[in-house]
Amino acid sequence: MFQKEEVTGLAIICADPRANLWKFSKEKLFKGKVVTPLLVLGGGVCLAHQDVFATEAHFLIGQAHFAVANFPKINKITVVGHDCGFYRMIPRGTFTVADKVKDLEIAADVLRQQFPGLEVEAFFGEVRGKSIAFKKV
Ligand SMILES: [Zn+2]
Repeated sequence: MFQKEEVTGLAIICADPRANLWKFSKEKLFKGKVVTPLLVLGGGVCLAHQDVFATEAHFLIGQAHFAVANFPKINKITVVGHDCGFYRMIPRGTFTVADKVKDLEIAADVLRQQFPGLEVEAFFGEVRGKSIAFKKV
């Protein structure tokens, strides 16, 4: 159990259990920190494609505002993405890994506008055998 003052981070992460991004993020990105995860399929993809996912983006931003308001020590928001299957929900075209990395930057910018007082960073998780390597974007 943690006290609310121990929570110093918020993470928006794709919930796909095959990638297991939350497990690896805890081990590699948030070691020793208490971070509250917003685990949704697609993670921050909806923030980068609000023309398609207005409802999902509204929900996610609302959850983030609730977390930041209720955990007063949160000073950083981290967006964690990967080569995500959620892109199949977007009707137009195909998306390369480079496109998906760029979308993480867009999602981070959306969060910077929403939370100007907080640090925002983004990581792309690449599968490496049975683990994930995170690259800061
Ligand atoms: Zn995903």
